[in-house]
Amino acid sequence: MPDILPYADSYYARSRDDDHIHPPLDGSIETEVCVVGGGMAGLAAALGLAERGRSVILLEAHRVGWGASGRNGGFVSAGYSRDLSALIARVGRDRAVELHRLSQEAVDLVRRRAQTMGQAVAPITDGLVRCSWFDDRAALDRRVAQANELVDADLEVWPREKVRAIWRSPRYFDAVMNPKAFTFHSLNFARGTAKAAIRAGAVIHEATPVTRIDLSADRKRVETATGTVLADQVVVACSGYIDGLVGPLSRATLPIGTYVVLTEPVGGRLAEVIGAPHGVSDDRFASDYYRPLPDTRILWGGRISRWTDLPRLAETMMADLRRVYPQLADVRAEVAWPGTMGYATHKMMQVGQLAPGVWYNQGHGGHGMATTTLGGELIASAIAEGDERWRLFEPFGLSYAGGVLGPWVAQAVYWSYQARDAWKSWRQTHRV
Ligand SMILES: Cc1cc2nc3c(=O)[nH]c(=O)nc-3n(C[C@H](O)[C@H](O)[C@H](O)COP(=O)(O)OP(=O)(O)OC[C@H]3O[C@@H](n4cnc5c(N)ncnc54)[C@H](O)[C@@H]3O)c2cc1C
Repeated sequence: MPDILPYADSYYARSRDDDHIHPPLDGSIETEVCVVGGGMAGLAAALGLAERGRSVILLEAHRVGWGASGRNGGFVSAGYSRDLSALIARVGRDRAVELHRLSQEAVDLVRRRAQTMGQAVAPITDGLVRCSWFDDRAALDRRVAQANELVDADLEVWPREKVRAIWRSPRYFDAVMNPKAFTFHSLNFARGTAKAAIRAGAVIHEATPVTRIDLSADRKRVETATGTVLADQVVVACSGYIDGLVGPLSRATLPIGTYVVLTEPVGGRLAEVIGAPHGVSDDRFASDYYRPLPDTRILWGGRISRWTDLPRLAETMMADLRRVYPQLADVRAEVAWPGTMGYATHKMMQVGQLAPGVWYNQGHGGHGMATTTLGGELIASAIAEGDERWRLFEPFGLSYAGGVLGPWVAQAVYWSYQARDAWKSWRQTHRV
């Protein structure tokens, strides 16, 4: 039986709202829908189903939000890991716009739900800023014009003088402000979503790893070490932690590691270096992302790799921070942690039906804080109301992720893009 693990030590785990544990499954029960996986993809499906009056049981191997959903940057924005122009290239303009609008609606729903959770998810800070690492204002203007025209994104271009007055880094040029996006406490949001699902009638069992699912009969049989669930329908939402549980879903999942560090409080001088509360990222393929917390600590994320952990993680992440803000060279790390994302090779979320009554919501990659809720809502409304909008995602199926070689290929691609970013940056500095 797999080990049942506590929350990884992180800013989020240290500041979680309470430590209520949903007791493990004990015995055999029946339900209409069984959800496997208590990250945001599973929790959103459970909440959506319970809100629609369906009987639903969710089984989580460790704790709700134990995986990527409770360890991330807390950035919530529209769109997918695959960007809008790549989406247009794949499915055409109209379908791409429709898909993007669904993700915008999900951002609004996440915000509405977060607003009911009070201080636990605070601060909810509006506005995400993407600072340009490269001196290419024209490219920025084109991208913003396209997004504003096609999907009413309301993006604003901020000139470099304004950017450098707020974020005192020699690295940045112009920036794009997305006022509709926000940041919040993602683990408490996951835990709050679990509580909301229970209030709506769902049952949640933590510390209950599913060991086997028999999907062959009309009634699906979900087995754990301490009990069995018989269900008419199953939703699998195990992301990068799926580890072979359902072959076709596991084979379509590329587990990719990524990392976050929390600094010690910086104190009064933080405002002179990072002069706004917004979340920030940049436009390199291997982007950093960060946000200042109200107590002047900085939550700083970045890097991806095929390894689920990195040696000397805190030092590595702090070196990234110092590259952007050399004036914070003396600031120390408080805690650093890894997380695993589940990617599809096409970089779109995967939502759909494997067989009648067998649903999946996975592949949210590094952009899942809104799309997990979208997937959950689509599945809930499909089961409860016959809604077929999940079919919009059919072009992005369960593509083979490359088996054991997949993560190595992803690592090689990452290194090549990192090298490309470094080369671009060097040419810019040396005006070649
Ligand atoms: C460090 C980091 C930073 C990120 N930053 C951002 C960000 O700022 N904004 C953003 O939009 N996205 C971000 N992401 C991505 C985002 O967090 C994910 O896309 C999203 O959380 C995926 O949710 P999920 O429910 O699919 O997966 P997870 O949250 O990983 O949940 C999967 C769950 O399934 C459970 N499980 C697995 N196997 C079993 C089993 N056999 N039985 C029972 N349960 C099982 C696991 O225990 C786990 O809890 C980040 C990810 C990481 C790791």
